Amino acid sequence: PELAHDLKASVRTIPDYPKPGIMFRDITTLLGDPRAFRRAVDELVHPWAGSKIDKVAGIEARGFIIGGAIAHQVSSGFVPIRKKGKLPHACVSMSYALEYGTDIIEMHVDAIAPGERVILVDDLIATGGTAEGAIKLLRQTGAEVVAACFIIDLPDLGGAAKLRGMGVPVRTLMEFG
Ligand code: IMP
Repeated sequence: PELAHDLKASVRTIPDYPKPGIMFRDITTLLGDPRAFRRAVDELVHPWAGSKIDKVAGIEARGFIIGGAIAHQVSSGFVPIRKKGKLPHACVSMSYALEYGTDIIEMHVDAIAPGERVILVDDLIATGGTAEGAIKLLRQTGAEVVAACFIIDLPDLGGAAKLRGMGVPVRTLMEFG
């Protein structure tokens, strides 16, 4: 409880961003606080201390920051999952649900070998549409998705429950209603 409180206080909320009615949870203040950043990374990976993780896959763009730190922590490789058209080499792609419509995420075709153990990372899970797409993409390459980690969960939107329903353990550090 103390941990959640400490870390939660380091997240800034921006009302009406990027559009009216949205409460944007801004983790740049957590990242900028040396203790909070280290603590968030340590706590997220704590359940997998000592287990072999081959790759951390981070979702553009904030998932790169946290995922890079986690990859270093668990001595794994790092794999970027990006919006369509950003990666230079041949890609596998997956469409995923947005609030209105769909979008496409991509990963290099040779980024992960079949059977590799992967942790998926992003800053926040809301509806889970983005993470669901990423998990499908990872599984398409034969990866074993060991877990999905997010600093923030918006539980009312059901994303974490959706991922658990796909058989992926979900770890989050705080919730906003
Ligand atoms: P989902 O696909 O509905 O789960 O939305 C999650 C994606 O949207 C993640 O990539 C988040 O970075 C981004 N996102 C949605 N809401 C917020 C927010 O309040 N703060 C930061 N990122 C957000």
